[in-house]
Amino acid sequence: MRTPLNAIAKNRRSYDQYTVESIAFESVPGFFVYGSLYRPVNGPAKQAGVLCPHGHWKGVSGGRFRSDHQHRCATLARMGATVFSYDMIGFGDSEFLGWDHQHPQVFQLQTWASIRAVDFLESLGDIDSERIAVTGASSGGSQAFLLTAVDDRIRVSVPVAMVSAHFFGGCDCESGCPIHLTPDLETNNVEIASACAPRPMLLVSVGGDWSKNTPEVEFPYVKHVYELFGSDSLVENSHFPDEGHDYGPSKRQAVYEFLVKHLDLDSSNVLDSKSGLFDETTNTIESTETMRVFADASELPEHALPPGSLIGLERSSEASGKENSSLSPSN
Ligand SMILES: [Zn+2]
Repeated sequence: MRTPLNAIAKNRRSYDQYTVESIAFESVPGFFVYGSLYRPVNGPAKQAGVLCPHGHWKGVSGGRFRSDHQHRCATLARMGATVFSYDMIGFGDSEFLGWDHQHPQVFQLQTWASIRAVDFLESLGDIDSERIAVTGASSGGSQAFLLTAVDDRIRVSVPVAMVSAHFFGGCDCESGCPIHLTPDLETNNVEIASACAPRPMLLVSVGGDWSKNTPEVEFPYVKHVYELFGSDSLVENSHFPDEGHDYGPSKRQAVYEFLVKHLDLDSSNVLDSKSGLFDETTNTIESTETMRVFADASELPEHALPPGSLIGLERSSEASGKENSSLSPSN
């Protein structure tokens, strides 16, 4: 059930062609989703919206605080998109305020947070509902194609270094319920990602992880599904055989080009005509302290649920999927 988001926006910062605000909203009453909202300066009256989940990369400057993640969000904002980057449970401000990623409802809460993040974008009042996209790498890629599969409001999807026929991560946040009905597998992430058809999708894959077979295995399958819709021109694969598991500069270049094309972004002030590259050098990389929503837990609204609370979601008794506990989580 959709309940009021009660969004809180704090500490608006102004940079070259874009602004950033620290955001909290309630995906369910008392349970907060934390993030950063990037907006273009003098952007179009109706703007594309892009959700950016971050993946399992941890550390003091991990999650949505990573510099490569900030580059992605800032560059898209400079091209006229409103971008929302949001914490997984137990990462970023969620971790800072006491939540652990090993929450028994992590899959449901994170998927619901993604759906509510679309609601949040729409609540801003100037987002073009025909141009909403999601992109993330690793488990952020899982969040991207899972949201795309369940929410038709997502019109463009770009999962990076994740979609694989033989591996789906290993963390409950990627395979809870269990959505793949293991151990013998009823489905896999290639089929789930194909639910994006006939909407535009770019699969970014690399030689250094479980997406290494994409040009020969996963992409031909996905393309066939798109052919059934007569829309095979809308699905693409950018493969980097010599690269590893990240959302690094070369992947971002490919993703920018795809999103400019399918979200009708304005690259005129970002795309360098000589090099043919999208210029990220004017982005400002913020410190973790600057990006925090609340300085500490005392700033939270009084009705905020204590860390670790079980949330009143339907089917919550089925929340814990232990089928992959022997695997290492993907990033
Ligand atoms: Zn996880």
